[in-house]
Amino acid sequence: MADYDYDLFTIGAGSGGVRASRVAAAHGARVAVAEEYRVGGTCVIRGCVPKKLLVYGAHFAEDLQDSRAFGWTAENCVFDWKALRDNVLAEVDRLNGLYRQTLENHKVEIIEQRATVSGPHEVTLADGTRKTAKVILVCTGARPHIPSCPGHELGITSNEVFHLDEVPKRILISGAGYIANEFAGIFNEFGSKVTLINRSDQLLRGYDESMRDRLLQISTMKGIGFRFNAEFRGIHKNEDGSLRVSMTNHDDLEVDCVLFATGRLPNTEGLGLEDAGVELGAKGEIKVDKYSRTSVESIYAVGDVTDRIQLTPVAIREGQAFADTVFGNKPTTVDYSCVPSAVFSHPPIAGVGMTEGEARNKLGAVKVYQSDFRPMKNVLAGRNERSLYKIICDGEDERIVGIHMISPDAPEIMQAAAIAVKAGLTKADFDATVAIHPTMAEELVLMR
Ligand code: NDP
Repeated sequence: MADYDYDLFTIGAGSGGVRASRVAAAHGARVAVAEEYRVGGTCVIRGCVPKKLLVYGAHFAEDLQDSRAFGWTAENCVFDWKALRDNVLAEVDRLNGLYRQTLENHKVEIIEQRATVSGPHEVTLADGTRKTAKVILVCTGARPHIPSCPGHELGITSNEVFHLDEVPKRILISGAGYIANEFAGIFNEFGSKVTLINRSDQLLRGYDESMRDRLLQISTMKGIGFRFNAEFRGIHKNEDGSLRVSMTNHDDLEVDCVLFATGRLPNTEGLGLEDAGVELGAKGEIKVDKYSRTSVESIYAVGDVTDRIQLTPVAIREGQAFADTVFGNKPTTVDYSCVPSAVFSHPPIAGVGMTEGEARNKLGAVKVYQSDFRPMKNVLAGRNERSLYKIICDGEDERIVGIHMISPDAPEIMQAAAIAVKAGLTKADFDATVAIHPTMAEELVLMR
């Protein structure tokens, strides 16, 4: 070990890299982590955290409307985007500091430079310095995919969206996945005219069809426009600074901002991985085994750069499992079954396990329980927005193989419900549980 500068050299201080580095250090390893931008990665700096804060900020628009039915008169309510933006960015700064502190407290050396792999045990820093390590961990994450069409440089991605000077009056969002639906909800609540366009004829591929249909219906009702089977053709800047967007099968659209949310690509370009013998997949993702080891024995990779499941908690688990396996003498793999997830749209969607479609394909005859209800808060507010819960059961004993919800607080409720699905509980176990009344979540134990 003493022959190397470090036991572990981590490239990328995002969710996976920070967890892996600090746990490896806690196991006694000498660790350095190189980060070319800011400690915290996509989730903290330009993803989950600032996005969720914007979702909270946006939801006040509805809450303020609804408050009238609850007897409140909120006069002179104005929304100040810059105040919200700056508060969110300040919170990001605070978290960035905390992440740095965590690494420093664990005696992990932070090297604020880009690092590339120059051999199985060697990395080269941007200033030309070479460092050696017994093990190299690549966790460089992913970046937004931008369609290669004329004028694409006039659009922005989720990297820039948190820094806008003003809320665009008209925004076109390209894509219909997580980011597209979350920002469609956010900007719609802030008063933008939002149009979401997608190349296919659906949104949120992979989520349960009933939830997707319900989100489309509610989003349309709220004023969000959708255009499907629309391939992006290009963006042209008009003299007045507005943008004209052309797409297949639909008329051109004049907007003030274009946001690309068309998936994310693994950050492997220019990292020297192929020269070092690390095998990559078709999208450029690093191929790894169940212990996150690449085709080179001393090089590992975790998180979005491996394109397994692009979710922060998964990257964190992969980082932890890597550190325990390699430096903790405790071989650990990540269990990818029943990973719950959520889309923070307005209202949010959450799901765990199989969708109804998947369950029917894989298991044949499944029993589906459903509750389609209007939350009592919406009833009093006069908000015509219904929630939908679905439980999918398999076999005689009705083991629950999937739960899906679109409803206020669905992600909060799902976290607990996912434990039950992961534990293999049955519908009878849910039925045997007394409801908490009055809640929305009680629908989970009242479906017949
Ligand atoms: P998604 O994979 O969710 O959605 C991508 C969308 O872009 C789809 O509608 C897809 O269309 C479309 N698309 C994909 N490739 C192209 C292309 N080449 N040209 C045009 N359109 C294309 O990606 P996002 O960018 O929204 O998010 C990236 C990832 O980040 C997510 O997969 C998720 O793992 C993670 N994330 C998670 C969040 C959460 O947990 N709440 C929030 C935000 C991101 P089609 O319908 O044909 O598939």
